Amino acid sequence: EACFRRHLSGSSRGTQGSMSAWVIDEYGTNAVLRYAEDVPAPAVSSPTDVLVQVCATSLNPLDLSMRGGYGVRRDPLSLLGGSSEFPLVLGRDVSGVVVDCGVEVTHFGPGDEVWAAVPPWKQGSLAEFVSLSEYEVSHKPQSLSHIEAASIPYVANTALSALVNAGGLSLCFCVCSRVLITGASGGVGTFSIQLLKAWGAHVTVTCSHNAEGLVRGLGADEVVDYTAGDAEQRLETMDRFDVILDNVGGETEQWALTLLKSWSGSKYVTLVTPLLSSTDHMGMLSGGIQAGLTVCDLSQSLLSSGVFYRWGFYAPDGPALDDIRTLVDSGKILPVVEAHFPFSQVPQAFLKLEQGHARGKTVVRVT
Ligand code: NDP
Repeated sequence: EACFRRHLSGSSRGTQGSMSAWVIDEYGTNAVLRYAEDVPAPAVSSPTDVLVQVCATSLNPLDLSMRGGYGVRRDPLSLLGGSSEFPLVLGRDVSGVVVDCGVEVTHFGPGDEVWAAVPPWKQGSLAEFVSLSEYEVSHKPQSLSHIEAASIPYVANTALSALVNAGGLSLCFCVCSRVLITGASGGVGTFSIQLLKAWGAHVTVTCSHNAEGLVRGLGADEVVDYTAGDAEQRLETMDRFDVILDNVGGETEQWALTLLKSWSGSKYVTLVTPLLSSTDHMGMLSGGIQAGLTVCDLSQSLLSSGVFYRWGFYAPDGPALDDIRTLVDSGKILPVVEAHFPFSQVPQAFLKLEQGHARGKTVVRVT
């Protein structure tokens, strides 16, 4: 409410057309992060736009990658008209208050508290204002503060897209399914454990020894400490899985595939894909073809063992966040905020993210 009143009083975007934001003007390390008060503020430019004043955001591994130049070709259709994307605002999550809407927006109005995950091809939420389409936005859970709410949208949209679209799971097709989550102590993992338990699945996870209390507290049924050295052997003694959600990639993929049930529609869904790095290095067409060939090769080689191999991706989806709001407000999904930083300390928040070993999310309070 405080930030909405401030907007209405004209002390911010309303009169000056500019806003405070953390931007980058080139790709690089933390040194490229720059605080600026004269960043052009977004405005409602299409009938379905929703302009949101950001109260809190959170960081994801994608922010580190984008800071370094990963996914450089985020504008394959040249919608930016070939112009530079700098100054670029990072930050994908937003919890905030609607300040303006396009004429065709029907579900939101000024003053509404909302949450959303900003697609990577749009300017991000480490800023006072962010512009989204109505389809990307959802009303924020009433039971959460803005700091808590900002920890969820990007990982929720990612987990839902991966588990539902690629993994074939849902509330109706999950009861008693056996799911393995690797890298379960981070942002996507801590959210996915809770979602799958709310859907009635049996959830096994891998994580470090010192994350066991956290993941058990979120509902994990079986916990395997990957640092103990015998994770593969321990998992092999368990019943086979219907779905594996891989948040780790690399070598994990080589051994974890054998843990799936054969010839029963089981699916291996990895979030660690080479798609953007291929298109960065080889260009949109060649990189896309190369990545497509890689996934086709892997999928075909696995067909003989009766399992499916799929890539999972974040997908913007406001209505999906509506479903998550219900689970949050009924206490079935809790926010997992490991640390939060004031807006003045965004570089420190990036340093925290860079250290790895996440236990949930790192949040930034914006206004
Ligand atoms: P986080 O950094 O929040 O979490 C990663 C977690 O994995 C940490 O808790 C880390 O803790 C743990 N971990 C690291 N190595 C291992 C291992 N060998 N076995 C088990 N656990 C391990 O990342 P997110 O949860 O946000 O994302 C997970 C992955 O998915 C990232 O690679 C991210 O880039 C990717 N991603 C891809 C998306 C897409 O659209 N394709 C969208 C979102 C995420 P510790 O090191 O202490 O064990």
